[in-house]
Amino acid sequence: MEPRDRSSYAVYQAGRGIEEVARELGRDPEEFVVLSSNENPHGPSPAAVETIEAHAGGVNRYPKSSHVDLVEAIAERWRLAPEQVWLAPGGDGALDYLHRAMLDPGDGILVPRPGFAYYAMSARYHHGDVSTYDLSKADDFAQTADGVLASYDGERIVFVISPHSPVGSEMPMAEVERLAAETDDDTLVVVDEAYGEFSDRESKRRLLDERADVAVLRTFSKAYGLAGLRLGYLLTPAAWADTYARVNTPFSVNELACRAGVAALADDEFVEEVVETSRWAREYLHEHLDAPTWESGGNFVLVDVSDAPTDGEETPGSAVAGATQRRGVIVRDCSSFGLPECIRVTTGTREETRRAVDVLNGVLTEVPEA
Ligand SMILES: *Cc1c(COP(=O)(O)O)cnc(C)c1O
Repeated sequence: MEPRDRSSYAVYQAGRGIEEVARELGRDPEEFVVLSSNENPHGPSPAAVETIEAHAGGVNRYPKSSHVDLVEAIAERWRLAPEQVWLAPGGDGALDYLHRAMLDPGDGILVPRPGFAYYAMSARYHHGDVSTYDLSKADDFAQTADGVLASYDGERIVFVISPHSPVGSEMPMAEVERLAAETDDDTLVVVDEAYGEFSDRESKRRLLDERADVAVLRTFSKAYGLAGLRLGYLLTPAAWADTYARVNTPFSVNELACRAGVAALADDEFVEEVVETSRWAREYLHEHLDAPTWESGGNFVLVDVSDAPTDGEETPGSAVAGATQRRGVIVRDCSSFGLPECIRVTTGTREETRRAVDVLNGVLTEVPEA
């Protein structure tokens, strides 16, 4: 017996983790600086850790009141009704709920290229079709309404990533507004703000006051440091009322994640420190790396390593990521994003960022090993 043939489905390629790499190289995980998955180098919010420890003994119960408490805390933070907050196991989980709610078989979604692989994966699970619009390197990956509309053909959902990973660019408020206005009434524009805390710009959440065709995705994985708990949410149009109750997996967000989320949301001091360090590190990377970089609104910087010496077979991104890894610094090769000449470097602590720059600058000038 076999499952359905899913050989044409893409497999999500995550940035490489510390334990995985250390095991493969027979080294101690402690020796590595991991700047490959846009995780939080400061660890989780300490308030969240305290709460998890305090409530570990309560996981024999389903998460009921804790789920309600977190939804209310998020709703209050964004000044929305609790029904508009779709809590999920990670932003990824929220995408599944959205597709369940929105897609009939054969409906389309429109996603950026380069972009985030899970939009397409999730849409296909829900029998949706996937089309793409291009962000162009020649244009410094500028995000405009016209750039999206040129590829728009009545899709049910249009995804915008702002700040965009891995490129770092953002779509201004007026452009998102125009995109929503110029697409059909039953097309939803989803703004993925997984990196929203790191940006200087206002959240597109404001558009939910004025329009019924915009949603905003947020996560606890990045600025709050809770990637391992899997916690995210979608802010949805007011008119959708009880749709969430009809599509979500029962108790999909676990008890400790719900409690930790409430604690983390109140831990402003932690998030402020995380964001401040990340902004410092972005500047440090722009200034000190011996390779071109792009402006970034996220906790990472895209680096053009086209000029790095390679053996001619590997892509520059893969050659550089491999060489820095041998020296204990793990960065993301962007080949899987369709940018084989680039790497993405997550902003680390000040110490980690300085070390990453030293190692990278060494690799960018060295002659490759035979
Ligand atoms: C990290 C990320 C998400 C959400 O990740 P979760 O860990 O599932 O919350 C969504 N979109 C983009 C572009 C991301 O980088």
